[in-house]
Amino acid sequence: MLEQHEHDHTTCAFCPKLCRFACPVSEAEPRESLTPWGKMTLLHVVAEGSHPLEPSTAAAFWGCTGCMRCRTHCLHRNEVADALRSGRAVARRAGLEPSEAAAAIEGFAAREERACEAAAALDQGKSDARVAYMPGCTAVLSQRDDVAATLRLLETVADGPVCVEAGACCGLPLLNAGDEIGFRRAAETLGRRLASRSTVLVGDPGCAFALKVLYPRRGIYVPAEPVVLSEYVAVRLPRLGSKARPRDVVAAYHDPCNLGRGLGVYDAPRTILRRLVSELRELPHSRDDSECCGGGGGLPDTMPDAARRIAARRLEDANEIGADVLVTACPSCKRQLGNAEPDVEIRDLFELASSLVT
Ligand code: SF4
Ligand code: SF4
Repeated sequence: MLEQHEHDHTTCAFCPKLCRFACPVSEAEPRESLTPWGKMTLLHVVAEGSHPLEPSTAAAFWGCTGCMRCRTHCLHRNEVADALRSGRAVARRAGLEPSEAAAAIEGFAAREERACEAAAALDQGKSDARVAYMPGCTAVLSQRDDVAATLRLLETVADGPVCVEAGACCGLPLLNAGDEIGFRRAAETLGRRLASRSTVLVGDPGCAFALKVLYPRRGIYVPAEPVVLSEYVAVRLPRLGSKARPRDVVAAYHDPCNLGRGLGVYDAPRTILRRLVSELRELPHSRDDSECCGGGGGLPDTMPDAARRIAARRLEDANEIGADVLVTACPSCKRQLGNAEPDVEIRDLFELASSLVT
């Protein structure tokens, strides 16, 4: 599994650590082994067999949010997050995954079932619709009001009826936990569930990244076309008419890593937000250099203190520019920023849009 990443881990191992400042994890937990260079060098020596795979080596593979900010600052554009996911899979096969990752795999089916039940409660009797809205398990389980608000927004802007699709997880939590086979199985299940849809509007950037990038890399086919929700809504903004009255607030937008660096979607959320607030200010680090909130890659489970410190840094950025509200388009970011005791209001982009039109 590590052979496919040979170029990346080899060039990292011989790099003078040029991207070390970019990594939220090694900034929050200053250990050499947690810099992108450190993690990739460990992967390199394991891959070439010059170092045994040990629990401490395996643990370093989980010290990554998957934010891809190191890639922005890498002349080789190395896919560190991707390589480390493979490292996790190798470690899991050797029985060396952290207990939190094992628990995530163990509890996956039960979580998916809970998400299914929660989604059924949101069903509006439109199950025949060809277009489905996939909010993602995190939103369905812990931000149900945001999902309901997004459904109301879609009633105004969508081309036709939209149903809720949350009957199957995209599988990303399994991949982050090192279960590559489980991820593939989850993706195939989701593909079967989407067989009757033409389009799936994907709300969670993690799910969107899985459907649009991680599945194709593995040759996994999904019958419905995945469309990023913010891009779908942004081009239909005129349908809001005069109903959406901008709030008189200073807002900042936090780029979710999977949406921004992962999918290159930077403008659509800003286009929507400019319609909703009186002033939009950019955070000190934004777009392809955006700082991570710490909520990805399973880090809140495996390194919760570091994940909280990363979120706190992001909140400091929002305070520095005098934002009243920090808006994001990702349920995991909203949850992670909210857990770091913010003194700025944290809002979901679509819920905010819905609150101004309904
Ligand atoms: S990702 Fe690029 S910049 Fe960072 S350590 Fe590897 S080779 Fe160097
Ligand atoms: S993807 Fe992000 S968290 Fe992972 S090594 Fe790179 S900068 Fe660090």
